[in-house]
Amino acid sequence: MYLNITLNPGREKSIVSGHPWIFSGAIEKVSDAVIPGAMVHVITHNGKFVARGYYNPSSNIAIRVLTYDKDEVIDEAFFVRRFQRALDGRRSLMNMRQTNAYRLVNSEGDFLPGLIVDVYAGFAVVQFHTMGMEVFRQEVVDALVQVLKPVGIFERSDLHVRKLEGVETKPIGVLYGAEPPPAVEIVEHGVKFGVDIVNGQKTGFFLDQRDNRKRVGEYVSGLKQALGSSPRVLNLFSYTGGFSLYAAKNGGVVTTVDSSVDAVGMARKNFSMNDLNIVDHEFVEADVFDLLPKYKKEGRPFDMVIVDPPSFGKRKGDMKNALRAYTDVNRQAIQLIPSGGILVAASCTHFVTPEMFWDCLRGAASLAKRQLQILEVHGQPLDHAMSVHFPEGQYLKCYFCRVV
Ligand code: SAH
Repeated sequence: MYLNITLNPGREKSIVSGHPWIFSGAIEKVSDAVIPGAMVHVITHNGKFVARGYYNPSSNIAIRVLTYDKDEVIDEAFFVRRFQRALDGRRSLMNMRQTNAYRLVNSEGDFLPGLIVDVYAGFAVVQFHTMGMEVFRQEVVDALVQVLKPVGIFERSDLHVRKLEGVETKPIGVLYGAEPPPAVEIVEHGVKFGVDIVNGQKTGFFLDQRDNRKRVGEYVSGLKQALGSSPRVLNLFSYTGGFSLYAAKNGGVVTTVDSSVDAVGMARKNFSMNDLNIVDHEFVEADVFDLLPKYKKEGRPFDMVIVDPPSFGKRKGDMKNALRAYTDVNRQAIQLIPSGGILVAASCTHFVTPEMFWDCLRGAASLAKRQLQILEVHGQPLDHAMSVHFPEGQYLKCYFCRVV
């Protein structure tokens, strides 16, 4: 039996059209007995059922919808159905022989707000972003065991967003089965990587750049033919060498740069795992913003520069600084690229729209006094699906450009 939350007149419109969030300002009345994190029925001002979701008075997003079906119970069977649907979608569209690491559940994009599940070979990594999803911890684990039959399930809820939900704990640890080894070996488009699920960034790996990394490999191969020699590739903000591996496997000589010593160490290991000789390549632990002026001064050219920084902000208030940082880092990258070379510029900052990012690249090119062609515009891959009703789910931009 779910208690009711009544919306102000007319405020059901966006929910009826499929958006999963209800802001606190839309709420007229909350039944007395409703407790934070509880499932509720959302009803219109006139008492009509709209949706079933979970409630959290501490969050500005007071309700997140889980179903529009009045009779659908939110239990283990519900999660089994949703996980199976998500898995079937991935299995039918991804070559699982070439890639065994993918996002199984992408929160709102898979109609399960507050839940992320990433799969690395036999291991599942779970993040509970919200108080309401946290309540279903056991159901989620049991349903994952049924659907995936994983070797282990590991939790990485070390998330700042939980604070906005009034959840202070940030649990990390085994939820089921085996403890993950220090480096779970995965394959992505045939390239091998070690993933540190326990200590790595986010859930251990940036799965969202998978297809853009593959495309980088294809570009490097093309550059090699055009140049008649090994293209010099600079991979900035490399993490564990994702883009570098594809570049090196396709004939590039790669400089891999990250400020994290652990990430650079793992990048080296990943090269060796793919039978690439690390002495043919360069691994640099440095701050990109210190390194780029140094390379400019030294006059070091690169035929391709990849710029994939971490998010430059979470709030709209960070906008000005974020746009300035994107413009600046890409300007400095362009200055290292001779005519005919390639800039791969990515942004994962949520509030920076594709149009704003385009503006940053225009600014970067103008300041560098160079011309830039945009060749391809990419986003996130299919396992980071976006609900058509939830445009907020779009965050990744990746522009492939030629410096002319
Ligand atoms: N391209 C990567 C993902 C990048 S994530 C991939 O394909 O897997 C962003 C990375 O930038 C992180 O590894 C972080 O350690 C690094 N980083 C953040 N600020 C940095 C800085 N100022 N200089 C160098 N690296 C930085």
